Amino acid sequence: MTAPRILLLGGTSEARALAAALVADGVPVTSSLAGRVSEPRLPVGDVRIGGFGGVAGLAAALQGYDAVVDATHPFAETMTIHAHRACQGPAARPLLRLQRPGWGDRAPDGWHWADTHEEAAELAAELGQRPVLTIGRQRLAAFVSALHDRPVLTRVVEAPEFDLPPRWTVRYDRGPYALDGERDLLLGHDADVLVTKDSGGDYTWPKLLAADELGLSVIVVRRPPVPGGMTVVDDVADALDWVRSLAARERP
Ligand code: NAP
Repeated sequence: MTAPRILLLGGTSEARALAAALVADGVPVTSSLAGRVSEPRLPVGDVRIGGFGGVAGLAAALQGYDAVVDATHPFAETMTIHAHRACQGPAARPLLRLQRPGWGDRAPDGWHWADTHEEAAELAAELGQRPVLTIGRQRLAAFVSALHDRPVLTRVVEAPEFDLPPRWTVRYDRGPYALDGERDLLLGHDADVLVTKDSGGDYTWPKLLAADELGLSVIVVRRPPVPGGMTVVDDVADALDWVRSLAARERP
């Protein structure tokens, strides 16, 4: 096996960067997207879109590949668990998790960390009157009970799947974001608390700089754990090396 066929579970900037690097290396790669957003940023190379149908469906799909790189978002917990299970079963395949570093290392003192979105909602209700939520749309419902009557601004890529409380407003946007715009967003809402999840990376970091500059309370939802035993790298170059090492390992 000189050029292993790679299934690259994507939906992140790192996955797109890795797809480009693999294509440049002559590695046959298929990027997989969930199909959540209507106009996804497409990686170079082959792309498939849509769920596999759980662990069994993914295991069946693995027949067409020699190895898997799971470069999904740090909060795409279900996909990561499915990849871990499918790659251990009868269709066993080498599996790598590519996950960008979280923000813990560069977090200033004073950020509030929450284990769940529900806990973040309770904290936001305690810490501010005018929250800005930048946690995506999938877990937005977890904030309704605690913040129903507050003037919440929530920023999402695609429309939430439920009717928002009357005092909530939505801003549709997609990163990367710049500091000036983030400052304007927070000032425009007269925000006093910002809620985010520990996505990591630089695309959405400026909101945290702006929040810090303006003296807002910041609440960060911790990442779900990576399944035990998974090999994890946090940068694209290391993921590329891992794929190259697979090819080298198989050479006679
Ligand atoms: P999730 O909750 O972990 O996954 C739910 C289901 O969606 C999976 O069981 C799988 O369906 C399907 N799925 C997820 N990622 C897929 C992929 N790359 N290719 C094919 N099917 C996939 O995932 P999520 O949090 O909704 O994230 C969906 C996608 O958006 C991922 O590609 C992720 O990288 C990207 N994304 C997520 C976030 C976030 O905050 N969660 C942020 C930015 C980008 P089946 O069981 O049918 O296989």
